[in-house]
Amino acid sequence: METEKRPRAKCNPQEIALKSFFLGPQAENATWVLPLLDGVFNRWVQWRRSLFPQDGKAISARDQKDQEFIARRQDFERVAYELVTRFEEEVPKFSPRYIGHMFSEVSLPALIGHIVTLLHNPNNISGESSRVGTQIEDEAVRFLLLMTGFSEKHGMGHFTSGGTLANFEALSRAHSRYALWLSAEAALANATRDKNLFQKFDPVMAAHSGWEGFDETIRELKERSVSEKEILNWNMGFQNPLELAARIEGLSRQEFLGPVMLVPENKHYSWKKGAHLFGGGIESIWPIRLDGKGRLSIDHLKHLIDLAIVKGRPIQLVVSVVGTTELGGIDPVCEVQDVLDRWRSASGVHIWHHVDAAYGGFFRTLDLKKSKTFSQNALKALASIPRVNSITLDPHKLGYVPYSSGAFLTREKRDYYFMSFDSAPYIDFDAAFDRGPFTIEGSRSAAGAVATWMTAKTIGLHPKGYGLLLERTARICRELESKVEKAGLPIQIAPGCDTNILCFTCARPGEALSVSNQRTIKIFEAFSPKNNGAFIVSKTSLNWAAYSAYLDEWVSQWSGQRDANEVVLIRMCMMNPFFGSIETKVNYADSFIDALRCELET
Ligand SMILES: *Cc1c(COP(=O)(O)O)cnc(C)c1O
Repeated sequence: METEKRPRAKCNPQEIALKSFFLGPQAENATWVLPLLDGVFNRWVQWRRSLFPQDGKAISARDQKDQEFIARRQDFERVAYELVTRFEEEVPKFSPRYIGHMFSEVSLPALIGHIVTLLHNPNNISGESSRVGTQIEDEAVRFLLLMTGFSEKHGMGHFTSGGTLANFEALSRAHSRYALWLSAEAALANATRDKNLFQKFDPVMAAHSGWEGFDETIRELKERSVSEKEILNWNMGFQNPLELAARIEGLSRQEFLGPVMLVPENKHYSWKKGAHLFGGGIESIWPIRLDGKGRLSIDHLKHLIDLAIVKGRPIQLVVSVVGTTELGGIDPVCEVQDVLDRWRSASGVHIWHHVDAAYGGFFRTLDLKKSKTFSQNALKALASIPRVNSITLDPHKLGYVPYSSGAFLTREKRDYYFMSFDSAPYIDFDAAFDRGPFTIEGSRSAAGAVATWMTAKTIGLHPKGYGLLLERTARICRELESKVEKAGLPIQIAPGCDTNILCFTCARPGEALSVSNQRTIKIFEAFSPKNNGAFIVSKTSLNWAAYSAYLDEWVSQWSGQRDANEVVLIRMCMMNPFFGSIETKVNYADSFIDALRCELET
């Protein structure tokens, strides 16, 4: 009898269990996954047959033998296999040799969730078009609220097509809130302007009055019989903003240039798109500088808040990033919230804090007290997320869920208020409600929510599920980093990669950046998805405009000569847990370093 050699000594049983959640690089789990898929499709067929059997059949066995029918059917089957063949040219994201962008193998539970949803095609725009899909979305939102550390009871959210749309949701809600608070205060100031009650109107204080302040103002307006229409007359979302700005200037007797958003330089480009779409223009983004570690600078944030208040610009929101697009870095969420809390307690200024955790949100499943792979700063930032106003998550990144699946969550129901719905922010979200009027998107597939729900129910959004998986990917990443470091190659590893991302540039000490950048680009091309190389990586670049303190510090460490305005990086998102497998015939880390050495020497 053949005995299988299993080097179990180093593999802990919980990590072995994780292997049941993926098909496996060689489709190892196909033996039981194919029957499961077959069972799923069979149940779908049976379900249809069971519903209105008395109706009789519309397609007869005779129809199916018809010449023309057979010809069209065979044609269709041929095209189906043509399509399958065509996709065999697709980027092989399932392979541990793919260490490029922020995607990897999808998990089996997510895939099954996605497939089952497709078979029913629910549209989560409303309960009428999705009876089960909308319920599952509610449940999946609750799972994500718990993962985020928000309360299930007070929090609110929905699924989006991705992180970009979730960031837009944050912008639209922060804008709705700012415009609403400002409108109530402006209406009150206007109602009292001719009386000796009138005090100087300050649009910044008005725009940050807080929900309690807002409620109080509404009570006062009611006492004075100011109508809802009159309040809307001061709302940026309903009026011509240019004309309204002029009226606000009339009230305050100072220039009014509209709100700004404070977004760190390490931002994803969705924020620029958002500034365009929401009409603020790029000028409305005030970039927060980065420190020497590539993270949002608290000193500069404080400076920008002071400046905005002095200049009479309301702050629509402050963004911090958990899992930056370039380095996977984590901003100091705790310290940012501390700054905002001080403004609130000292001056009654309520400022919205949004965390763009499209990439890093799922690291909330780590054991934040025991993780050995993540830095104390990263763990502290993750632990502070429950304090912020809202968050963007992308299950289609570290949730191992198929596209498209993003999510937007708020800590408090009232912050979920969405302007296009005209009956003020008193809607009862507790009763079953149709999301259509409250989402930027109209028709929405339930698939992303259902896939996420499946993974939460199976893998688990906790330290023994996703936490274990993600801790493993970060550990594999750091092991690769230390091997690369010791390999004696002309490589400089980028600091500040807090998570499971590894970035490096191919530079020799003292070399000009123009030379090392060119070498790095050449290495990228050897490992780009266009080539059939042994591995696939991605590339990014850091420029001095955004990363000045960081680059000054890092580039001087190898005495690089600055004759270019950017440093080109090889970027590897280590998401595939099988990269660290000890059972495979290749050791992927050693094999990658060999391939890299080979390219660097030619
Ligand atoms: C990926 C990402 C986004 C955009 O998400 P999409 O799903 O691609 O729309 C936004 N912010 C950050 C930090 C990201 O990593």
